[in-house]
Formats: sequence, structure tokens, C-alpha cells
Amino acid sequence: MEMKKHLLAKGTRFETPYYVIRGNSKGKSMMLTAGVHGNEIASILAAERLVDLLKKNRLWIERGTLIVVPIVNRQAYKLRIRGIPDLNRTFPRSEKDKARHRLSVALFQLAKQYQPAWYVDLHEANGLSKINPQRLGQTLIANPKNAAIPAIKRIVAHVNRPIVQKSKQFTVRLRNLSGSGRHAAHHLLKAKAVTVETCWSLPMSDRVIYQMKIMKGILAEANLI
Ligand SMILES: [Zn+2]
Repeated sequence: MEMKKHLLAKGTRFETPYYVIRGNSKGKSMMLTAGVHGNEIASILAAERLVDLLKKNRLWIERGTLIVVPIVNRQAYKLRIRGIPDLNRTFPRSEKDKARHRLSVALFQLAKQYQPAWYVDLHEANGLSKINPQRLGQTLIANPKNAAIPAIKRIVAHVNRPIVQKSKQFTVRLRNLSGSGRHAAHHLLKAKAVTVETCWSLPMSDRVIYQMKIMKGILAEANLI
């Protein structure tokens, strides 16, 4: 396994590290992003923890290539704000459209370079989807008809099994969200594209554990680990 650190949007005020981890065998690639929204802390901590585990050889990428951007919007993260404008509405909406922010331009360019089979974007949200289906907390989201749907249903079933309180269990949501990274990856890269949302009001340590379990589940489904 080989791990290299690079800089996204290098030389701009949005510069942020990303990591390319290659397994010893050939395989698919996966892109993993967190911190598109700067106030969704558990997703950022989980992505950083994943990078740390890989650095320390406590987790191995066996096949293919993993690209991780642990904190996409560092400026928003510093201020613990969602980010202005909302970065997750600035990705290209169609073939002819262009990304509208330095970071979404750089991120989408990186995605085009690697043509990932999977595009996973970690977030957090309000509410518990089991209690209120309008809420996005504790969900895995894909665009309708996305090829990731069977896999994310299996991951949700696996992650839910030890969660005794039903209200805290995850659900699968299918929705279009034009301008989001997931939507662009689904429509323009034909990737298996997933958004992960933990619920903000749960304890931080639980949220990080959920994010880690889901990331590992997706890495396994993608045959990288
Ligand atoms: Zn978010």
C-alpha cells in the first residue's frame, strides 16, 4: 500500500490536503470527501481518523485507489459554519454546466481525473429520519436508480443491527439534489454516489463511530479492503 499527500486548490486561499492511497493490487477507485460543510464535525473527525488508521497501517487498502479529502472547506471549518455560498450547491448540474466555486471546481476536476467507481460524501444533519422522514439525520442518500442502492441497503442493515433504540437507526433516502457533489458524481461521472448523514444531536463519539462503520462498509462493498 502506498499513500501520498497532495494539495487541492493549491496556491489559493482554499488550499486543503488530500490523500491518494493505492492498494497493491488493481481495482476500482473511490473518492471520499468530508467537510464540504464546515460545521459537520463528526464527518471530518471520522475522515481524519480513517487517514490516520491508513497511515499507521491499522487499515489496509488491498485493491484499487482511495482518494480522501478530509476537510474540503477549511475556511468554513475554522469558523464552524456551513459555508457561504453553500458549496454543495455549486457542483456542475449538467454536462454543459461548470462548477461555481474554486473548491467544487478543484474537487470535480480531481474526480474526473480518477473516474471513481464510488463517490462518498460525509455530512451531518438535523433530526432522526426514523422518527421524521422529512429529516436527514441518520440517513444514507443516493439519487434514484443509482447503482449504489443495493449496497447501501446492506450497509444500513448491518449498521442498524446493534442500534437498540430504533429511533437512532439509519434509513436509505433516494433524492435528487442538483448542484451537490453526489448529484454531479451520479449524473456526470456515472459513479455509485452516496451521501452519509449522521444526526447532530447524538453524542459526538457515537456519530464518529457511525461514520467510521459506514465508511468501512462502503470500502468493503467497493472491494477496496
Ligand atoms: Zn452537509
